[in-house]
Amino acid sequence: MQKLLSEIENYIKEIFPQLGLNKSRELVRLVFEISKKSKKTPQEILLKENAKNFEQTKKYLINIRYKNPGNLADIYLPKLDLNFTKQANLEEKTFNPQNIFIEDLSLNSSLAKRVKEKFPNTKITVFKGKFPVLKESYSERKKNLIIYTEKFDFLKPCPCTKNANCCGYNLINLGFGCLYECNYCFLQQYQNLPAIALPSNIEDFLAKIPTATFRRGHFNYVRLGSGEFTDSLLFDDITNYSADIIKFFEGRPELFEFKTKSTNIDNLLKLPAQKNIVVGWSVNPQNIIDTVEPLTPSLNERLTAAAKIAKHGYKVAFHFDPVIRHKNWQENYKNVVEQIAANVPKENTVWISIGTLRFNRELKKFIECRFPNNIILDEDFYLSFDGKMRYSDAERQEVYEFLKPLLEKTFPHAVVYLCMENKK
Ligand code: SF4
Repeated sequence: MQKLLSEIENYIKEIFPQLGLNKSRELVRLVFEISKKSKKTPQEILLKENAKNFEQTKKYLINIRYKNPGNLADIYLPKLDLNFTKQANLEEKTFNPQNIFIEDLSLNSSLAKRVKEKFPNTKITVFKGKFPVLKESYSERKKNLIIYTEKFDFLKPCPCTKNANCCGYNLINLGFGCLYECNYCFLQQYQNLPAIALPSNIEDFLAKIPTATFRRGHFNYVRLGSGEFTDSLLFDDITNYSADIIKFFEGRPELFEFKTKSTNIDNLLKLPAQKNIVVGWSVNPQNIIDTVEPLTPSLNERLTAAAKIAKHGYKVAFHFDPVIRHKNWQENYKNVVEQIAANVPKENTVWISIGTLRFNRELKKFIECRFPNNIILDEDFYLSFDGKMRYSDAERQEVYEFLKPLLEKTFPHAVVYLCMENKK
């Protein structure tokens, strides 16, 4: 990729020797994106005779790169800055931290005790107050585990974006950082801490619930869930949060959801199932899991776990989120729907969300550096109603018109809703 980039930069300089830096960067990006997707050389993409002036050339390239360019202001062409030293580490599949940091207030917690037992040979440093300053990059976050006492950030409404339909979800932030490497993960831009951080005082989170005011959206009941800044169950063999949560919610009116891609369900299977506990799996076709969600369990493994959870008596949910457009996406997503229906009892499925891939525009640069061969950015994205990058209105509508009726027909007991989508 670096070689391709240099080749494109030299070629643009050769055609437009006088071009300013910003304009040159825009053309370089356009040629790069077209070349990455089509595998054509810069010379094949931009014939010298077609490169008359900047405006004309930019328009010419945009019309090749985008199927329906529409408003040019919605096309985002930042500087292409391929820093491959930041690449994701897809080799390290297990969690074996080299450093454990425990806040003094958490030293006597049951979580600290379990962590010490689980990693008996790992160096432990006790800290007071602020988190330790760590030098590793985000891609090395698995080296560090921080156990801390949360003091402020207990409950909050789901961060629905401006003008999006509110699904009325409420969040409890049990931890920060994830071991998986989903190409689209917002944490790679958002998380400035190269560590996995887990709170030791879950009881303080749960204590806030009885007096909190919650949103419902269009649901008849309050929904609470973990899994915004980490996967809800990925660390459950270490944290055992699920046991505390399940016991706390016994007899309560709210529904609590563990949102996950993991199969770490043993703790849940050890306890009697509660009817207001939901385990929700994010799902995608296996070809997308292979290419876009590295290190995560396969679709089959997720559905096997879902079937066990449903058989045990819990409710299950599924999140077609993010839906990723690709060749044969209709057929592949239809297969996912059929696989769920064939493996998991339909009557246990309480809700299913659908949301197409969207991301903060700055994330684009992080994805390019961390996953140089990613396929997700080969599709067309435009600045959307809330400033995020999304597929065009027509492409998103096509996804919803395909998946929503299919899911409603297949799972008549479940609430099927759109996530973070335009109200219009
Ligand atoms: S499972 Fe969620 S938190 Fe983990 S990498 Fe994937 S998107 Fe990010």
